[in-house]
Amino acid sequence: MRKIQMVDTKNQYLAIKKEVDEAIQSVLDSASYINGKAVQEFSQHLATYLNVAHVVPCANGTDALQIAMMALDLKPGDEVITPSFTYIATTEVVALLGLTPVFVDVDPITYCMDIASLKKAITPKTKVIVPVHLYGQAAPMEEILEIAALHHIYVIEDNAQAIGCDYTFSNGVTKKTGTMGHIGATSFYPSKNLGAFGDGGALCTNDKALADKMSMIANHGQSARYYHDVVGCNSRLDSIQAAILNIKLQKLDAYNAARQKVAQYYNQAFSDLKQIVTPGVKKYSTHVYHQYTMQLIGVDREKLIKHLADMEIPCMIYYPVPGHLQKMFGAHKNELLDLPVTNALTPVVCSLPVHTEMDETQLAYIVAGIKSFFNSKN
Ligand SMILES: *Cc1c(COP(=O)(O)O)cnc(C)c1O
Repeated sequence: MRKIQMVDTKNQYLAIKKEVDEAIQSVLDSASYINGKAVQEFSQHLATYLNVAHVVPCANGTDALQIAMMALDLKPGDEVITPSFTYIATTEVVALLGLTPVFVDVDPITYCMDIASLKKAITPKTKVIVPVHLYGQAAPMEEILEIAALHHIYVIEDNAQAIGCDYTFSNGVTKKTGTMGHIGATSFYPSKNLGAFGDGGALCTNDKALADKMSMIANHGQSARYYHDVVGCNSRLDSIQAAILNIKLQKLDAYNAARQKVAQYYNQAFSDLKQIVTPGVKKYSTHVYHQYTMQLIGVDREKLIKHLADMEIPCMIYYPVPGHLQKMFGAHKNELLDLPVTNALTPVVCSLPVHTEMDETQLAYIVAGIKSFFNSKN
């Protein structure tokens, strides 16, 4: 059996090595490493795939979130509502820009933004809502967009974990995650569902003025060469990464389908275990399983992790400390925040390996490993 990994980027590469190597070689031959043809092609292909008017490439997903917020003319102290239960990048950029992160709770089934908690958090200072499509499932966008429209608030979707996921509105219209809010931010970090061989990111929008502003910000606020209209940053997608992403984008749906197959295998295998709550999927969303994150009920998580590690089965805790309890946000004062679901999830979540290269032998071994732990009276 192949060694089990949380993500297997090596074998995924080997399966498409010839195409990828040729694409990289062609960038090397062109010597156009920055903003070359591959970058423009990839941006166009991604816009077509997502069915969105504009894609602005950038250096990584964190920059994408930052550039999105820089484009919205916010003032220090403006409030940005984000879930606490997310990767730190979502909230970190808010603080970096002198804005105030306002942490809200998540739904215990989808791990995405909770609507009641969102409604309670809105104040006259709220300027942006950042729903995160966590682990690969869409946040409840229809309600979020309605609330945002009612209060004239911007919506920036953090789509770093859900590229390729579909959301269906109650009128039957289906859209890709990242294309429903004013701006969508995504990441091409190697382990993401659409991963480069280094860092990369992109912004999507249907608003031409925002797209222009974001490309300007990503390029030192430059409007014409050496004329800088606004304070920006230096955030570029490399041509080599774009060339690789161009190939992998064609396979994204197949990659996501492979992840879904893994998830179905786990769901089925764990359906009779009272110790495991498998990830729930709402009718309005597909799930592209960036992570397969289960909840452990009455289980000593550390002991289980140790048991699995002894069998060379990796697993991860995403995330051991929620945003509001991080030192960077003054964990102490935030202890009083009312985020019961987030606080309850953190100690019980556990993510199993899910990637495009898993085979049934590995899956059967992982399931047997977990079941053997429960059967040994734990
Ligand atoms: C990965 C990730 C990011 C940041 O992307 P980078 O490319 O690593 O900067 C932001 N938000 C979420 C939810 C992520 O998973």
